[in-house]
Amino acid sequence: MKKQERLAQIAKQVAKCQRCGLYKNANRPVPGEGDPDAKVVFVGEGPGYHESQQGLPFVGVAGKLLDKLLQEIGFDRKDVWVGNMVKHRPPGNRDPLPEEIEACRPFLDEQIKIINPEIIVTLGRFSMNKFLPGEYISQVHGQARFVDFAGKRRIVIPMYHPAAALRNGRIMEEMQKDFKKISQFLEKETEQVKKGEELELKDEQMRFL
Ligand code: URA
Repeated sequence: MKKQERLAQIAKQVAKCQRCGLYKNANRPVPGEGDPDAKVVFVGEGPGYHESQQGLPFVGVAGKLLDKLLQEIGFDRKDVWVGNMVKHRPPGNRDPLPEEIEACRPFLDEQIKIINPEIIVTLGRFSMNKFLPGEYISQVHGQARFVDFAGKRRIVIPMYHPAAALRNGRIMEEMQKDFKKISQFLEKETEQVKKGEELELKDEQMRFL
């Protein structure tokens, strides 16, 4: 079965999911969206009001900023895949609860497995904690790490949530700098793939990129 079809199957499961109570208050499910072959996957927290209305991730003000940050590094939304830790909107945009994140986990895990990206960019602390438990975003944002996930060594780059950048100019500047690293890593990977080399970067080197 094609990747697109497998992702569509997950979206159908999400649409009828009652593993936690979030479906009761949410408008539409937001399974995630983008290129099934994306090299870069972005993982946010959960749908907000506009996302829940449209059934699409990051379409509100935070989404507009995400689009702008992507444009600044020469990317378009259709080149990447964007999803969230929880697929139904938490009421009043509250933080998702640990049991809601856990209930939704198999969907995101399966989506990442299918898409098989090189780079996972986490947006905000909830998705960062999935891959880098116990870290603080203010300390590690922009630092790429190798993480073995869904059968492959992948690069995880933790970043602030775009909503935080909208509230704070300093975070906005940091986020713009952090985004540049995405294209640097992809270039590095492409060069090495061309030369037939494995993408090989030591953790210490990655920190300074
Ligand atoms: N914030 C998120 O974390 N995800 C969205 O889809 C929108 C806003």
